[in-house]
Amino acid sequence: MIYLDNNATTQVATEVLEAMLPYFHDVYFNAGSMYEAAKPARTAIDTARKVVAEGIGAASSREIVFTGCATESINAAMRGAASAVPQRRHIITSAVEHPAVLELSRDFSRNGYEVSFVGVDRQGNLDIAEYVRALRSDTLMVSLMHANNETGVIFPIERLARIAKETDPGILFHCDATQSLTKLPISMSGNFRNVDMLSFSGHKFHAPKGIGVLYLRRGTPCRALLIGGHQEAGRRGGTENAPYIAGIAKAMEIAAATHDEDMKRIERLRDKLETGMLRLVSHVEVNGHGAERIPNTLNFAFHCIEGESILYLLDKEGICASSGSACTSGSLKPSHVLTAMNVPFTAKHGSIRMSLSRYTTEAEVDRVLAVFPEMIARLRTASPYWDREKQAPRDDLA
Ligand code: PLP
Repeated sequence: MIYLDNNATTQVATEVLEAMLPYFHDVYFNAGSMYEAAKPARTAIDTARKVVAEGIGAASSREIVFTGCATESINAAMRGAASAVPQRRHIITSAVEHPAVLELSRDFSRNGYEVSFVGVDRQGNLDIAEYVRALRSDTLMVSLMHANNETGVIFPIERLARIAKETDPGILFHCDATQSLTKLPISMSGNFRNVDMLSFSGHKFHAPKGIGVLYLRRGTPCRALLIGGHQEAGRRGGTENAPYIAGIAKAMEIAAATHDEDMKRIERLRDKLETGMLRLVSHVEVNGHGAERIPNTLNFAFHCIEGESILYLLDKEGICASSGSACTSGSLKPSHVLTAMNVPFTAKHGSIRMSLSRYTTEAEVDRVLAVFPEMIARLRTASPYWDREKQAPRDDLA
């Protein structure tokens, strides 16, 4: 099997699994218990909190809250801030956020908040002029993603957060870093010093599904979402998940140690896949081309084909990819990200995302390039649009 869907989730690293195992069985005790046997679980959580804090350059490990996933972190950040600062009722986000932010923002707008959904250009870059115009003195919060899960396009968070704070230091800035963490440099005391809240989850970088992190800068007004026990300093009730917490810390440690080498390799393979595809297949473009992108993500638009049919044939070849985010695939609705980017109709429906990881090999990329041209040609013979479009010069395809 060739797995090119690492933006959906990644394989748990063997070292991560090994780091987790003791806390399922030998040290299964509740980390909150007072007896001696439970102490190693408490120590593992304390150590993991320090590792995660160091990994993102946080001033203190007290700024780290462990959650169940990025969606929970995002809900905790945005709902928590709204409930702590009820007098402000305007939120700014973008039209291309993951549903975890987008649907939550729509929920805010159904409940008396005004939400500005800032647009993007044809490459997927945020419209900065529109963003600046949207900032107001009653803006509660900005929530913007660092890297897009479908296209890999990067938003300039350092600049965007600085602009928000220059407009009004009371505006809270939340960043969804789920796809960028371990792929791009993030330091809460460096380039992200104006970011108050940061959300991410472990399963995008070889930790298991079911563990997330919310970074809460000291002093940020944010009420707890899960009210219950005193865990996580009262910011997230619920018995701590010691094995998964140990797992995410191990995954961050490994990523920090191998980052430069991994990213160079992944980028080289991604570029090989991109240039190979553009050379071998006609009427294909790369969504987000020309914008700054994370090194592992490629979003191809094959004109005049349904993405779902490509995925079906790929699956028969043992190749796993996706036609959008995992959350929206399965529906034939075109991606909201590509719609916001104004990708033409005939290309939007034939979009395929391929996302690489440190486990992707050159032989796998070669195999994908070997099967694609024939597969695309076969699908296009059945396309009602293809006869007309193949005559058109590439620039006229809209
Ligand atoms: N944000 C982004 C950008 C994502 O890509 C994802 C998952 O694909 C999420 C949030 C939600 O992550 P989780 O599944 O851990 O809740």
